[in-house]
Amino acid sequence: MNDCIFCKIAAGQIPSDRVYEDEQVVVFRDIYPKAPVHLLMIPREHVDSLETVSATHEALLAHMLRTLPVVAHRAGLEGGFRTIINTGRGGGQEVFHLHMHLLGGGTLPGF
Ligand code: 5GP
Ligand code: ZN
Repeated sequence: MNDCIFCKIAAGQIPSDRVYEDEQVVVFRDIYPKAPVHLLMIPREHVDSLETVSATHEALLAHMLRTLPVVAHRAGLEGGFRTIINTGRGGGQEVFHLHMHLLGGGTLPGF
């Protein structure tokens, strides 16, 4: 049994505020936003983290990166956005289904 919360969000078994989806990814609003706009992009396929991607995921990763600006523009982030991928406990990863944070709105503080 798959207890992954993001797999359940991708499958529609747990509600989320979806802003974009296609055959490979789903994008929804983070439940605890850390910026005026805070979205999460996940692959429909379960992948634990960047640590576990393989050559078979290259097209998926490219698709995710290419789709981020499309989603950002749709969300009104004309001035730019920040992308974060937390990897492993030491990297602050809490949900072990690969996801890209997309943050923006106003001017984000320096990193
Ligand atoms: P991580 O720390 O793993 O990179 O980020 C996980 C993110 O998922 C956090 O920003 C957290 O607020 C968000 N999150 C956790 N559970 C849920 C949920 O059930 N729904 C939504 N929309 N976001 C969630
Ligand atoms: Zn999953």
